Amino acid sequence: MKVVENLQVIQKKIIEACKKVNRNPNEVKIIAVTKYVSNERAQEAVNAGILDLGENYDEGLIKKWEVLQDKPKWHFIGSLQSRKVKNIIEKVDYIHSLDRLSLAKEINKRSKSIVKCFVQVNVSGEETKHGISPDELIGFIQSLEEYPNIEVVGLMTMAPLTDDESLVRDCFRALKSLQIKVQQMELEFAPCKELSMGMSNDYEIAIEEGATMIRIGTALVGEEK
Ligand SMILES: *Cc1c(COP(=O)(O)O)cnc(C)c1O
Repeated sequence: MKVVENLQVIQKKIIEACKKVNRNPNEVKIIAVTKYVSNERAQEAVNAGILDLGENYDEGLIKKWEVLQDKPKWHFIGSLQSRKVKNIIEKVDYIHSLDRLSLAKEINKRSKSIVKCFVQVNVSGEETKHGISPDELIGFIQSLEEYPNIEVVGLMTMAPLTDDESLVRDCFRALKSLQIKVQQMELEFAPCKELSMGMSNDYEIAIEEGATMIRIGTALVGEEK
């Protein structure tokens, strides 16, 4: 399938999901996750009008960046080792996986300007998942004040892999309520306006629960590699 065809299907579903809960579809941004596909396919996504690409490894991001440069905005969505920060920091527009102070410290040190970060929260509590626990979130965000190059633009989570839709929905709903708590702190460095949640299998539920950025790989660009 061409990316444009997949995109049309997804856009239709975004509109339907928004209608259900009375949201404006313009509030939902699609990030095309290109980690499974070639440079050519990523280029096709950009040609289809997608302005945001996501990668989860530094090597993958750098490879794509060499071809596409800053035509799209770049989102780093994978877990990030501190020693890799320097490889990507000049290339990315958003980091979706801030989950520890040592990483914040490194980002702060390596960047010459403010970096838009999402704090990744492990809402589902699965041990295999990265992210800070919901109980620790508020304290963690408060301690980011020390790092002037970090801006918390939002929260990110990954839902549990399950067919039980209610568990997925609970996870997204919990992230929304955490977002409200963060916003109530009214911290200048943590406006927390965005919610990065929803992937190929669950983005419609995520949108119903307030997602503003959905990260879509398989359903949009496929997994050709
Ligand atoms: C791979 C990945 C996605 C996209 O997954 P699909 O199921 O292919 O849409 C989204 N978010 C993260 C963090 C990922 O690693």
